[in-house]
Amino acid sequence: MTSAVPYAEVIGDPISHSKSPLIHGFWLRKLGIRGEYHRCHVRPAELADYLAGRRTDPDWQGCNITIPHKVAALDMVDDLDRSASEVGATNCIRKRGNRLLAFNTDVAGVAAAVSRDHKSACIIGAGGAARAALPNLADLGARDIRILSRDPDKAAASLNGIFPDLSFFSLENAGKALGGVEGIINASPLGMIGQPAVPVAILDALSAAAAGAYVFDMVYAPLETPLLKRAREMGFTTSDGLTMLIGQAARAFELFFGAAPPRQHDSELRRLLAA
Ligand code: NAP
Repeated sequence: MTSAVPYAEVIGDPISHSKSPLIHGFWLRKLGIRGEYHRCHVRPAELADYLAGRRTDPDWQGCNITIPHKVAALDMVDDLDRSASEVGATNCIRKRGNRLLAFNTDVAGVAAAVSRDHKSACIIGAGGAARAALPNLADLGARDIRILSRDPDKAAASLNGIFPDLSFFSLENAGKALGGVEGIINASPLGMIGQPAVPVAILDALSAAAAGAYVFDMVYAPLETPLLKRAREMGFTTSDGLTMLIGQAARAFELFFGAAPPRQHDSELRRLLAA
């Protein structure tokens, strides 16, 4: 696709569900920037050709990347920003001249949701979103990081080479995994509409977390997940998935359009995203 104006887009397979066009379109309109943000269906076999074609498109500023291209795209760019190399995945490619530079703005998205210093945390899930949380936790001082997943051996094989000193727990050991932790992050689809519910054992294990812990759920549909509901009832600090979604988009918007998004309109944007 070519455009008469500068544009960015989100690519993936499937792609129709993506909220990125809504977010970027909202900010472009608010700022009156001459630019567009599209969605583009790119299948795995089409990724290399897609990037080769966009590389020479003078209007294309870059793209967000969603499932299933986040790892494959790393081998198709010229340089990796530290955010992408330390996570081992990219969700954002920016073009400068004819060069492609890969970022991982999910790291900034997690930082928008989790900002307090703490020593211990438990992440539920061990996929790409969990990886994006790990550099943030390390930067915030967490040295005791526990991964709670349905397959701890697979999780260890995937994460140990990238992040040292993690400990791994099965879902049956949720009580141990959450025991005394100061932060809990759900980086799995558990609790999302159409996905299995968060196991009751995890909800019950919240009572084992440290007093004053935070609970951050990356799931944003529904916005108030059962995990967040229980955490609020128990007096924990909470962050929802829209905080991360908007946070990762904000960093990408700066990279694509060279302007800070107008965050004073976040309440209006959140209402649109939650509708
Ligand atoms: P991913 O790479 O596919 O990883 C998903 C992880 O969750 C894997 O560890 C997977 O285990 C585990 N999992 C999947 N289904 C499960 C189940 N039924 N029971 C227990 N564990 C299960 O996906 P991702 O990119 O990390 O995304 C994970 C979730 O984070 C998404 O569903 C989305 O809700 C959320 N997310 C939100 C944002 C945001 O901006 N708010 C951004 C990114 C992701 P296996 O390895 O065993 O399959």
